[in-house]
Amino acid sequence: MKQFKIIVVLAASILWSCSDNMGDKAKDFVELSKDAHSYANSNDIRMTHLSLDLEVNFESKTLSGSAKLDIENYTGGTQLILDTRKLAIQKIILDGGVQTEFTLGEESSIFGTPLNITVTPQTKNVTIFYTTSPDANALQWLSPEQTLGKVHPFLFSQSQAILARTWIPCQDGPGVKFTYDAKIKTDPSLIALMSAENSTEKSADGVYTFKMTQPISSYLLALTVGDLSYQSTGRNSGVFAEPDMLEKSVWELESMQSMIDSAETLYGPYAWEQYDVVILPPSFPFGGMENPRLTFATPTIIAGDRSLVALIAHELAHSWSGNLVTNETWNDFWLNEGFTVYFEQRIMEKIFGKPYEEMQTKLGMGDLLNTLQELEEDGRVEDTHLYLELDGRDPDDGLTDVAYEKGRFFLQTIEGITGRERFDIFLKEYFTKNKFKSMNTERFITYLNDNLLSEEEQKSLNAESWIYGPGLPDNAPETNSTELDRVELAIARFNNDRMEAKDIDAEGYTTHHWLYFLRGLKNLNLDKMESLDKSFDFTNTGNSEIACDWFKHCIEQSYKPAYPAMDNFLVRVGRRKFLTPLYSLLAKTSENKEWALEVYKRARSGYHSVSYNTIDEVLK
Ligand SMILES: [Zn+2]
Repeated sequence: MKQFKIIVVLAASILWSCSDNMGDKAKDFVELSKDAHSYANSNDIRMTHLSLDLEVNFESKTLSGSAKLDIENYTGGTQLILDTRKLAIQKIILDGGVQTEFTLGEESSIFGTPLNITVTPQTKNVTIFYTTSPDANALQWLSPEQTLGKVHPFLFSQSQAILARTWIPCQDGPGVKFTYDAKIKTDPSLIALMSAENSTEKSADGVYTFKMTQPISSYLLALTVGDLSYQSTGRNSGVFAEPDMLEKSVWELESMQSMIDSAETLYGPYAWEQYDVVILPPSFPFGGMENPRLTFATPTIIAGDRSLVALIAHELAHSWSGNLVTNETWNDFWLNEGFTVYFEQRIMEKIFGKPYEEMQTKLGMGDLLNTLQELEEDGRVEDTHLYLELDGRDPDDGLTDVAYEKGRFFLQTIEGITGRERFDIFLKEYFTKNKFKSMNTERFITYLNDNLLSEEEQKSLNAESWIYGPGLPDNAPETNSTELDRVELAIARFNNDRMEAKDIDAEGYTTHHWLYFLRGLKNLNLDKMESLDKSFDFTNTGNSEIACDWFKHCIEQSYKPAYPAMDNFLVRVGRRKFLTPLYSLLAKTSENKEWALEVYKRARSGYHSVSYNTIDEVLK
């Protein structure tokens, strides 16, 4: 951390000393907010284009080759500072010719190592020759056994929030945008895909080239390599999956094209041409990752009944909120996620109707209230503000329901004040005017006040209390769902022993009904657990969301018949959203903790670093 501070001061002083004599280049210069999670001096020298040339080596679990960065030198500075983490740098050349000097700063366990490269004011590009570490945090290398097909190995990346620097030396802050192209060489039996224009078929020599002509942030750099096949699902959409998974995935994601069409009518043209989804092996640590043109998704959404496709609406919505208009720093994360949950809800309402949307929104409110309570109990009240102060901390700490759900309810509150029609016009224009740029919280509020809200409306919204205040403000919208009212009645009777499990009328229950049901259960005991399981077979459900909520009760009640299924679930699925609550509950009693440690011993090597770093903390 020491080194980090020195560099920030140094970068600032270069900026100050040179700001008087900025040349012509300053015309298109947009100053970015200070990014506490990046060493890069991007207000001095900024990367504008990346050319990658990498070879994938499954044996050594490394990528090696070069990254060429085109740069704009705004201040005439002679030090380019990039973010790296555990990269072995062989040499760096300037403008394709002369080798230049570089130094690596002190390593921080969160932020990695700054790479200082000597350039001249005239330097147009730097090429860094390097190899990644076998334990690069962004990359997960899977053995054939960890895939569905069991024959070929598999690789995928997860760069958000600050893991791009573990496989590419770059200016790894969301405010810096650049275009890229890439050449990736791999085994010819595998296909390589990136967050770019992709080939849909394997190449005979294992060499793939990529082009991303729209500017993106580093956290959207993505690569996956495996035995994957493709099927189109419409005009500009399609699915990649392991061959045995493809048909099921295409069926499940049948609504994708209509989601794109609905989103376009709401918020303007889709800016990235093609929208594909790749279904990854179950160790993928997130539900989905909105990599441009190619969403990375967990196979846990392939539930067999199309009930979990809201996740695709969410990742697609990021094509506007996040990928097109991007949070400038991770403190502004709610600008990415709050908008996206709001859009997701609007897309789902358009396709599946109001009752569906109401259930989703009510469940979201339940999640938010739980999260707010937990954060308060943990003494993290400041993390319940929409604008976060994550300086010095891992930006992953900001990945809570506050950014997602409090952010969504903030936007819903605005919609309530202005009416939907005015709000929609405002949003469409906001995305058009700010496309391919970054946005911070302060500028957004100014933009909102200047372009949408009257003074009276500003008072009634009280943005200040949402953005810089704790918890849920008083003017938050109410959530109602007649569908869930029906479930509420059943829960009340069951909880008060006025009805047995076998008499619950679950006709027409969807995943949302079940989740609400499971989350509302109280006064459980082993007899009731057994009767619920007998009636609804929760232990053997193929629906990962339902399984996770059921297993929480199983842990609290020590309902042992479910433990083998839970063991299997924890070993097979690497999605952090499921792992964290389950391991946290297990860690509460010594008997359960012992069991959890034994499971974790077998499971950990199958998890991505994003997941095992969290669970290491939970079980430490
Ligand atoms: Zn998201």
